[in-house]
Amino acid sequence: MHKRETLYIDGEWRLPHGKRVIDVVNPATEKVSGCAPEANHADVDAAVGAARRSFDSGVWAGTAMSERTELLSRALDILQSRLGEIAPLVTEEMGCPVTLSGMICQDAVNTGRFYLDVASELRLSEIRRGNNLAAVVKEPLGVVASISAWNGPFAMALGKLIPPLVAGCSVVFKPAPETPLDAYIIAEALHVAGLPAGVFNLVTGGADTGRAMVVHPGIDKVSFTGSTAAGREIGAECGHNLKRVQLELGGKSAAIVAADAEIGTTVAGLAIGGFFNTGQVCAAFSRVLVPSARYDEITQALCAAAQSFVLGDPMSPETTMGPLVSESQRARVEGYIAKGQQEGATLLTGGRRPVLLERGWYIEPTVFGNVDNRMTIAREEIFGPVVSVITYNDLEDAIAIANDSDYGLHGGVFTTSDGVAREVANRVRTGTFSVNKFMYNTEAPFGGVKTSGVGRDTGREAVESYLELKTINITPSMEAMYNS
Ligand code: NAD
Repeated sequence: MHKRETLYIDGEWRLPHGKRVIDVVNPATEKVSGCAPEANHADVDAAVGAARRSFDSGVWAGTAMSERTELLSRALDILQSRLGEIAPLVTEEMGCPVTLSGMICQDAVNTGRFYLDVASELRLSEIRRGNNLAAVVKEPLGVVASISAWNGPFAMALGKLIPPLVAGCSVVFKPAPETPLDAYIIAEALHVAGLPAGVFNLVTGGADTGRAMVVHPGIDKVSFTGSTAAGREIGAECGHNLKRVQLELGGKSAAIVAADAEIGTTVAGLAIGGFFNTGQVCAAFSRVLVPSARYDEITQALCAAAQSFVLGDPMSPETTMGPLVSESQRARVEGYIAKGQQEGATLLTGGRRPVLLERGWYIEPTVFGNVDNRMTIAREEIFGPVVSVITYNDLEDAIAIANDSDYGLHGGVFTTSDGVAREVANRVRTGTFSVNKFMYNTEAPFGGVKTSGVGRDTGREAVESYLELKTINITPSMEAMYNS
């Protein structure tokens, strides 16, 4: 039992003001495996106050970049040494097979190091001439409220923490209530590495804790990963108070299978794109657009790929698909499966709870055929292992269907023609796009357009998004100070 009773505020482990606790339930066993406090307004106020004081004092924001990268590198070393406990903990929290958790957590540490390298190379000031001599400097943006989702908790946390911290910001971080436990290990690592008090603060809790962070006047920027519904509320609040905001939200991404696509590459990409992490991936290829002439071939191969997943104990190395994160998430996914059938889509495979697994919030990988893009399962984000296959007439039609979505996070094309790949990649309106693969490149910017969000996580751009520009009109004698 992983029992956490404290919050990390102002460099110390503090008992919360409130008495409420959130239980962490293992989605494979349905048993409580841990708990963490539900931080209330007073806790959030203390955390933001500590972050504000640390930022305004310059204890971190005022240090040299080299000092910050050195300290954060020590924290990443500590996390690297604890990956053997972090990966199974993530699996206990959200059900991802432990082999995948291991890979994802290792990638997260590597990506953290990438951010440190990028930050060391950033040019933080330059001279502009024009009608007046000016220095343009990039300064740490301020106090960041960082709120994340449960579907890749450790990786998401590091991705939301290392960029603002290396940029010199102070952070109040809230993990999702389903997965608060691994964030404690990150807090421990930052503490042991010697991060000054108040620069990083951990509060745990649900939407109300998050809301208290967003509305707090001490916050300069909100960095949020989660649903579009919550993103709209946060965006409205930040807009009203002119806080900076970065929103990484939902998706309903389309993979276009071109007439010339190679079947092996295509189905491998579609299977990962649709079913990786039990389909609980914002960028998932949940719509698959196929030419009418290849409908039977693609759907048969995709169903065979879906049926080849091994569902079971996520702690077993044989398991390739774990349960959904929670009972309510399974109910939601089952609701969409029922809706798909009611609206006339053909259930080609899956759609049920696996009969051999008595416990756990499992659902079989599911493929719907004969889906019309106007059906609910083609329009709304399901966030489960459910793929909708839609036929198209020609490439124009395919691009139009792909773009006929409120979302714009990710998209893909499978083709043997580089020309077709480029044409489709240019014309599908998304923030990220993949050719002949399902790919997430943490060294490049990731994010969405339309209701999939605002701003970009990952890449050099992630670090830069926590810097604010300032123009200083200077005298000629000052030029050398800024010409870095
Ligand atoms: P969610 O919006 O319910 O919750 C996400 C986080 O926000 C949690 O920590 C939650 O406690 C908090 N929260 C909820 N409402 C809030 C509010 N009004 N104000 C402040 N905080 C609030 O989302 P979820 O169900 O946990 O996560 C799944 C969603 O996240 C999916 O829509 C998925 O596509 C999206 N997601 C997006 C990305 C991306 O990079 N674009 C990555 C992962 C997940």
